[in-house]
Amino acid sequence: MAQRLPKRTYAVEINQAGIFYGYDQKTYEIVAKQCNRCNEWRFLNQFNNAGKGFAGKHSACKKCHRKRDRWGRLLWA
Ligand SMILES: [Zn+2]
Repeated sequence: MAQRLPKRTYAVEINQAGIFYGYDQKTYEIVAKQCNRCNEWRFLNQFNNAGKGFAGKHSACKKCHRKRDRWGRLLWA
């Protein structure tokens, strides 16, 4: 699958969970990552906060987070 990368000022790495993420090469701050549901490349502000999650964010983006199955469970949970 082709990865859509952000601006070249970010370095892209892959974490142990197989999630691509981008970090600022000067500050090493994580700025973007790949949603593990839709596989879209998104900036961190498009993820809900999660204390345990990678970069302190959920593994699924806000858009996926809103999607639930017919039992009301989060599809990615
Ligand atoms: Zn998503």
